[in-house]
Amino acid sequence: HPHFDHIGGLPELQVFKKIRFYSHEKTLDLAKHLQETFLGIREWEYASLEFNRWYDFGKFKVKHFPVVHQPGNVAGGFILEVKGKRIAITGDTGPEILRNHELLEEIQGADLLVSEMTQKYPIPKTHLGVEDAIKFAQKVEANKTLFVHISHSNYAHEELEEKVGENGIVGRDFMVLRI
Ligand SMILES: [Zn+2]
Ligand SMILES: [Zn+2]
Repeated sequence: HPHFDHIGGLPELQVFKKIRFYSHEKTLDLAKHLQETFLGIREWEYASLEFNRWYDFGKFKVKHFPVVHQPGNVAGGFILEVKGKRIAITGDTGPEILRNHELLEEIQGADLLVSEMTQKYPIPKTHLGVEDAIKFAQKVEANKTLFVHISHSNYAHEELEEKVGENGIVGRDFMVLRI
């Protein structure tokens, strides 16, 4: 989604000759604007994804689903199928995702769940708190859960690890996970 912490670093990708971006049209519009403004003409590609539709790109399949994340903003998560593995990524989302029963059913038992855990306490229609994120993980029952998008106002990493316990892994920069 087109928030600065997700898309503001786009001009840094200038070292790459070819890139393909996959996202909702509204996010791609801003991505193109950033590219044109900062980098000029590029051979980059933009693949627009409509919500709630599966796309088969050969090496992987993807479905972009909408989430509630700040009124007026278009934001979504992803379900990916790669080499027989199913990966669910919440993206930034408000706690309303816990009541999205259709989604919960679809990602139940995924190989990997990547859930946001931005704040100590939830912000309705914006971000999950620690407890919500854990509750969400418990509902999904993925083989592995990774909590990410942790803000500086959240608990310190070690404290979060204690709170999360057996419910998942607290993400770090440059982390590598095998599924
Ligand atoms: Zn955001
Ligand atoms: Zn964000």
